[in-house]
Amino acid sequence: MEAFNADLHCHSTVSDGLLSPTDMVRRAHSNGVDLLALTDHDEIGGLEAAAAMAGELGMRFVNGVEISVSWGDDQTVHILGLGFDRQFTPLVQGLANVRGGRDSRARRIAAELDKVAIRGAYEGALKYVGNPALISRSHFARYIVELGHAKDVKGVFDWWLAKGKPGHVQHTWATMEDAVRWIHGAGGIAVVAHPGRYRLARAELARMLAMFKDLGGGGIEVVSGSNNEEHIRDHAHLARHHGFLASRGSDFHGPGESWIDLGRMPQLPDDLTPVWTKLH
Ligand code: AMP
Ligand code: MN
Ligand code: MN
Ligand code: MN
Repeated sequence: MEAFNADLHCHSTVSDGLLSPTDMVRRAHSNGVDLLALTDHDEIGGLEAAAAMAGELGMRFVNGVEISVSWGDDQTVHILGLGFDRQFTPLVQGLANVRGGRDSRARRIAAELDKVAIRGAYEGALKYVGNPALISRSHFARYIVELGHAKDVKGVFDWWLAKGKPGHVQHTWATMEDAVRWIHGAGGIAVVAHPGRYRLARAELARMLAMFKDLGGGGIEVVSGSNNEEHIRDHAHLARHHGFLASRGSDFHGPGESWIDLGRMPQLPDDLTPVWTKLH
């Protein structure tokens, strides 16, 4: 029998993905995904349509979201919420507040880019945005590629948008306490996304995970789209050490822009407890 194929991390046009929520569900289904979570950044507006499409196709689906959190000294950490009630008011309201900061941040990013002679970046990024409240660095990246300053979106981050680069600005997102509280209040499980992607020293990463655990955080993403075998071994070790459930997600954003397609990631190491065994 084929191993159970869960993909619990991906993005639609509701945030910075390239496909609509229903097209994401169709693609997951045709890729052989058994259980999907759509996890748009700071936004749950795609879940209803995605859940309905999954129902039509007979594919299991759980509600998801990827919440932007500020932790420690200007670090951004992404916390996934899985399997929650999407009507829960504090979650709905909390996410609205997180999104509320994105437009002014985008204007600040554009002002910084203007200083290095990248003109009209705010308007340029908006051309790629489906949902204006969700303007993100991915949309700036697409515009900068259009201008010919980089050959692909990943190259843009390395030169223009990552921390320490000209278009990077400081921004305060949700607190980790609030993000976990909203997810738990809505009956969901909180999971630290892509633990290897943060620019944290080893001891700091351990401190961040310990704090997340103290707040009742349930899991970490052991297998993420951009991971190689070494990352997976490392994340599995972290899951065992801290006693976390293990999640698996592609972080797929769209054809041609992602590391790996929906459902095409390696399996979790056998000894870990998959987070989906605790999702209803
Ligand atoms: P934002 O929430 O506006 O800061 O945008 C973050 C998004 O930018 C992530 O969810 C990714 O989709 C994208 N991103 C961040 N870093 C990179 C990178 N190095 N390469 C490609 N995409 C990236
Ligand atoms: Mn993204
Ligand atoms: Mn992320
Ligand atoms: Mn993501």
